[in-house]
Amino acid sequence: MLLQQQSPSIDPIKVAINPHNITVDMLRIDKVHEQVSGNKWYKLKYNLLKAKEEGHTTLLTFGGAYSNHIIATAVAAKEAGFKSIGIIRGEETMPLNPTLRQATFMGMDLHYVSRTDYKLKTEPEFINNLEATFGEFYLVPEGGTNQVAIRGAEEIIDDTLVANYDYIISAVGTGGTLTGLISKADGAAKVIGVSSLKGDFLTGEVKKWLASINKEYLTNWKVSNAYHFGGYAKHTRELIAFINNFKIENNIALDPIYTGKMMYGIMDMAANQKLETHSKVLAIHTGGLQGIEGFNKRFGKLIV
Ligand SMILES: *Cc1c(COP(=O)(O)O)cnc(C)c1O
Repeated sequence: MLLQQQSPSIDPIKVAINPHNITVDMLRIDKVHEQVSGNKWYKLKYNLLKAKEEGHTTLLTFGGAYSNHIIATAVAAKEAGFKSIGIIRGEETMPLNPTLRQATFMGMDLHYVSRTDYKLKTEPEFINNLEATFGEFYLVPEGGTNQVAIRGAEEIIDDTLVANYDYIISAVGTGGTLTGLISKADGAAKVIGVSSLKGDFLTGEVKKWLASINKEYLTNWKVSNAYHFGGYAKHTRELIAFINNFKIENNIALDPIYTGKMMYGIMDMAANQKLETHSKVLAIHTGGLQGIEGFNKRFGKLIV
């Protein structure tokens, strides 16, 4: 084990409008590590081991300026004894935002590329150029999703949790975490992903990832595209009010990019009888709380 690990708790969540008597518990993997937040810890776990096994000394990855994945990789690399390089989308702006400041503090070497170049990040030629510039590295894809990451995400839940809940619900970005959850649930509990992105491509992405681990036969899951609030990193006053109220009611912070949208979705599904009567829901708190400081700096202390 290359990273510290604290055990997640399971906390009961109040459901205000609950005609079907749904029980909601939250699995607090946001607590698994002080700084390698939630699902990113699990996605990095086997990537770190693989990089070590293959003799690499440097990790290179990609992300936006507020990315949970960038900060997680920076901290994990430092803790596991790697150098790290972050290829950041867009222009450098000074002073650095809290996410990038912390990444730099952890020793990550930041390099900025234009939005146009950033789109090339999976092209072999682009990666060869990076190798020519920085020397050899272990490449962690954007968002950290690859087959090794999915293997880690399977460990977010165990057989007991799968047996005890009817639904396992998580926020979705790339779909790597959801794929791990679907794989582990193995058809026994229904897995629902609440997408933080606009569009309906994520079902297809998750199908591709399932096929990559030979589990395309699993069908007891879906992605909901109804709770993106305008798209990735977009928000509305209603979402912010929900997040602030959730904190007062449950004493649990949610982030505005992923977990806030997921919990809003769960409450809405419960209120509108989209979940089976008397069913039990396990909501995954995938972390992302580091993003709140930067969000508040940009938009004016919306989240309390
Ligand atoms: C990255 C992230 C997600 C999305 O995970 P994917 O595996 O990319 O779908 C969800 N929640 C939080 C808090 C994240 O940081």
